[in-house]
Amino acid sequence: MIISGKELSARLKAEMAEQVKTFPAKYGRVPHLVVILVGDNPASVSYVTGKAKASAEVGIRNTTIRRPESISEAELLGLIAELNADPEVDGILVQLPLPKHIDESKVIEAIDQAKDVDGFHPLNVAALWQKQPCTLPCTPKGIIKMLKAAGVEIAGKRAVVIGRSNIVGLPVSKLLLDANATVTMAHSRTRNLAEVTRQAEILVVAIGRPKFVTADMVSEGTVVIDVGVNRDPETGKLCGDVDFAAIEPKASVITPVPGGVGPMTICCLMENTIECFLRSR
Ligand code: NAP
Repeated sequence: MIISGKELSARLKAEMAEQVKTFPAKYGRVPHLVVILVGDNPASVSYVTGKAKASAEVGIRNTTIRRPESISEAELLGLIAELNADPEVDGILVQLPLPKHIDESKVIEAIDQAKDVDGFHPLNVAALWQKQPCTLPCTPKGIIKMLKAAGVEIAGKRAVVIGRSNIVGLPVSKLLLDANATVTMAHSRTRNLAEVTRQAEILVVAIGRPKFVTADMVSEGTVVIDVGVNRDPETGKLCGDVDFAAIEPKASVITPVPGGVGPMTICCLMENTIECFLRSR
């Protein structure tokens, strides 16, 4: 079974659009997401465009603020302070990565926790690890939604997550643990990685290496979630961290790239924006 993040996200966005339609009558306006784009990195421009398109589909007001690569850290922090203070702004997202002269942690910490739609603020991260209500990071949240939509029972399963980044590997491990999986976190220093991954009943791969996970690393019937977004060095096309063609026949459930985790990430950003809006009502 191939889980189409594209189809699932289209369905969820249509449901959100119905909900957002009722907001002007109830609350006087729709949610407002502000996305800050620094510089013109083509990948970032494309992500920001995707976020604006999804906002339009859901009926969320979207403002994209573009600033040149040369913006100082102080200017960027000043802009965030203005948006924090603006009662007409519900969500603030600073597209990463930022230029090297700007400290990303300082920027993330500057965003009001209540408007942190990415779920990257340290207070949201702490709340996640303490099982307190919080804004969940979009990619891990989307992965859990995909597993549920595919009818995958997580409780009691052996889950292996390759990658331990703050935005994917660590939080998705925590969400799987909260759903009662037995979680192994693997990374670049893991010995005998294939032995570890062959134990997985659910395998989440978030490393950023094209087709790194090969068929011999996966057991029959495994649920495979491919987070990677890479260019295939041979074809130049987008591909995941998993060798999809070789693994799809063995996997019970698998996500494609493109059209898998990526659309669900944007869908969850929309959901987080609505949640921030509703929490502040
Ligand atoms: P990251 O911050 O670069 O982290 C990569 C992780 O992979 C690290 O923990 C690293 O281990 C591990 N790793 C690297 N090489 C490895 C190897 N040979 N064996 C085992 N582990 C290895 O990456 P990220 O931000 O999590 O992103 C990962 C991928 O997901 C990228 O392709 C990114 O574009 C994609 N992504 C997609 C979405 C989406 O919505 N679809 C969202 C976010 C990210 P160490 O910690 O030991 O260095």
